[in-house]
Amino acid sequence: MNAIAVRDRTGHAEVIELPKPEPDSGEALIRTLRVGVDGTDHEVIAGAHGGSPEGEDYLVLGHEAVGVVEDPHDTTLSKGDVVVPTVRRPPNGSNRYFKNNEPDMAPDGQYHERGIVGAHGFMAEYFTSPESALVTVPPELAVYGFLVEPISITEKAVEHAEASRSAFEWAPESALVLGNGSLGLITLAMFEQQFDRTYCLGRRDRPDPTIDIIESLGSTYINSNETPVPEIPETYEAPDLIYEATGYAKHPFESIEALAPNGVLAALGVPSDWSFEVDGGKLHRELVLHNKAIVGSVNSNRRQFDRAVETLGSLSESFIDSLVTGIYELEDFEAAFVDDDTTIKNAVQFSTYEKR
Ligand code: NAP
Ligand code: BGC
Ligand code: ZN
Repeated sequence: MNAIAVRDRTGHAEVIELPKPEPDSGEALIRTLRVGVDGTDHEVIAGAHGGSPEGEDYLVLGHEAVGVVEDPHDTTLSKGDVVVPTVRRPPNGSNRYFKNNEPDMAPDGQYHERGIVGAHGFMAEYFTSPESALVTVPPELAVYGFLVEPISITEKAVEHAEASRSAFEWAPESALVLGNGSLGLITLAMFEQQFDRTYCLGRRDRPDPTIDIIESLGSTYINSNETPVPEIPETYEAPDLIYEATGYAKHPFESIEALAPNGVLAALGVPSDWSFEVDGGKLHRELVLHNKAIVGSVNSNRRQFDRAVETLGSLSESFIDSLVTGIYELEDFEAAFVDDDTTIKNAVQFSTYEKR
């Protein structure tokens, strides 16, 4: 079968030939429908994040997948079920994070991430997965099921942000998303359902398709070249929740001050090392005297995937149509990895869903 992989240190994706996988006990064989591409895939291809399975010189890409059960094998799934796989797997047998259904909380060394670090991903015509790592999706969501994984990332981050505010009557009204990439825009669409006022920060000038999406959601676009994060409270308002999805390392520090009193910052970006000066005293004081919280969040667990399936069903078709800028067949897979200002969310299509 065909798969899309990156070989160590080549910096670009290529099609390779692999044997069709066979399910082990407790696993099903899945025929892949579509696999999405995000900022992490670009970082993995560039060699800035993740790595190949031990002893191998290539990594099959892809962690945002949707597929159809081809062979339920010895699972309780049925042939034809539409499923989305979770990302993390235990490296050497299980550990307490996996046993507790909280693999997203596992520290380094206690997880692999399929398509990212230590385990091959889903960009192949078929993949196998344990039943416990497969979330069933209604057939009508099959075409956009590759959005469940990124939505689950925000389900988790918001759950943790809200948990940090659960000791008092927190009544947030406004949210600011930093970043107008695919994760930022998906999050903004989710926040639109929840907050009275939302803002999204990018660094692009008009005309730009992401600004059109932001405004069509009823949100306010903030250009960081005109209004950097520290000026947002004065120009707009101090948000109750800030969700950082830029990977720009100054943003979390600037957000501490920009937050409203009792506010919370969820930091999602994965930056490279970067040293710069901050006024540590001011930030420390700001956190303490205004009861602010910072939550870092990575990955997501099955419960959050289940919620993401419901959320996907609640997003408007017009939003999803404008978010998904390209679905590419295997022969055009390179187009799915183009990262320019006209690209928001692309996916590679390995096969199509046919209702039985
Ligand atoms: P992406 O498509 O690269 O989006 C990042 C966006 O931030 C881009 O639109 C970029 O603008 C904008 N941006 C970057 N620096 C900026 C600045 N200084 N001012 C204003 N805008 C800025 O990536 P993504 O897939 O949406 O993911 C976003 C980040 O979250 C990445 O760092 C990714 O690694 C991380 N991530 C984390 C998790 C997790 O579990 N924690 C999950 C998924 C992704 P331009 O396009 O104009 O350059
Ligand atoms: C993936 C997560 C993963 C994170 C860090 C994200 O793009 O969606 O599942 O935990 O990258 O590798
Ligand atoms: Zn991702």
